[in-house]
Amino acid sequence: MTSSQNRDRLQAAISIALLALFFVVSIFFGWLGWKANLQQQVKWRESNRLTYLALETKFLAADFNGWQTAYAFDVVRGVPGATEDEAFSRRHFLDSSQSFELEVNQIKSHLKTESELERWNRVHSSFQRYMDVDREVIAAYRSGEAQEIQRANELVLGREIDLFTEISHSTEELIVLVLNLSNQILQDAESSSNWSYRMMLLCGICILFLLNFSVSRANRFVDYQRKLLHKIGKIAHTDGLTGIANRRVWDEELPKLVEQAELQEKPLTVVILDLDHFKNFNDTRGHQAGDVLLRTTAQAWNAQLRSGDLLARYGGEEFGMLLPKCGPDNAYKIVERLRLSVPDDQTFSAGIALWDGQEKPEDTVARADAALYLAKQNGRNRSEFAQLKSLDDADATKCPETKTSVPSQSAPDTCTI
Ligand code: GH3
Ligand code: MG
Ligand code: MG
Repeated sequence: MTSSQNRDRLQAAISIALLALFFVVSIFFGWLGWKANLQQQVKWRESNRLTYLALETKFLAADFNGWQTAYAFDVVRGVPGATEDEAFSRRHFLDSSQSFELEVNQIKSHLKTESELERWNRVHSSFQRYMDVDREVIAAYRSGEAQEIQRANELVLGREIDLFTEISHSTEELIVLVLNLSNQILQDAESSSNWSYRMMLLCGICILFLLNFSVSRANRFVDYQRKLLHKIGKIAHTDGLTGIANRRVWDEELPKLVEQAELQEKPLTVVILDLDHFKNFNDTRGHQAGDVLLRTTAQAWNAQLRSGDLLARYGGEEFGMLLPKCGPDNAYKIVERLRLSVPDDQTFSAGIALWDGQEKPEDTVARADAALYLAKQNGRNRSEFAQLKSLDDADATKCPETKTSVPSQSAPDTCTI
């Protein structure tokens, strides 16, 4: 494995680790925020419940007091049957005392410290004592004895009033305590809410980082892939030895340039070039020197062509040239100029064919190939024009004098020599 591969792997591992870290941290902060939010809701409910209990106790205490007064008046005024449990005022008195006791008992479950419980006890014990006295008073009234009734009246106007004052004061204190507790819980809820907000904010920031990081990594990856594809594409279209276009490009470009020539009504000339006796060169100078010569020649030729022209290594020591907007005469001149840039006195032969305006691209190449063969036959180090398909083989002529083999073009070529 190469060091760049190792580096890539390390970078990928670091990226994944960072992504995982951001993800875990986001989840963690989100969880903390969510938990704090739940706590806040619980505290809100608790605070509401306590406030409700305080208000309800206050209301029931007043209710209880009212019905006690009404019932006591009825008894003292000697209303018949006022001491019966079913009597209107007494029944309401008993109901309200029961409700008050139940409400006070509910408060107890929310108290924790000793001093809180002690306050609650004060309410509870004064209430119990009051109810004990009430039972004693009722028993005395119900005995029907004048002395007992007198004692009961005294108890109602004395002891009961004192005890009720005690109940009122201790209840008042308990309500204040409960409201304070409620307020304290509300403050706790607010701090939980702040905590939850901060955690959620951190979670959001982490998610933003996560997204940003992911996008930048994805961009980098796409960029890397794009460069890689570009590189692969370049390799796929380049001849490894000479650095010029390879046969694949030739095969792709030939039909395109023919189509273009047809559309633009401009000439297109195909040239096949082949080094002469290159086997001998290899045999005498060595294969490596042959490679150098191939590369140097291809580079020198390529440098002389226009941007729209194409020079491709056709195979071995054979090259193909596509010259758009260029007629055979100018192509011939270009080929002759290329001869000057071949090193080591190496020569080459060339076949030149003008696309006839209707034939298949490969037919033009076949004619250029045939012209090359002719050049080889005629002694090498020369160029030959291809004959038109319609003419007999015997009509193949030498260039440049024998222009009769070249079809006339309506549009002039714009080839620069
Ligand atoms: P002709 O004039 O008839 O073309 O003769 P030639 O020797 O050039 O043709 P032939 O087809 O007999 O031999 C082609 C030679 O080109 C043989 C081969 O060693 C050489 N050749 C083909 N490709 C390469 C290459 O990539 N590097 C080198 N150094 N030589 C190559
Ligand atoms: Mg050759
Ligand atoms: Mg050859």
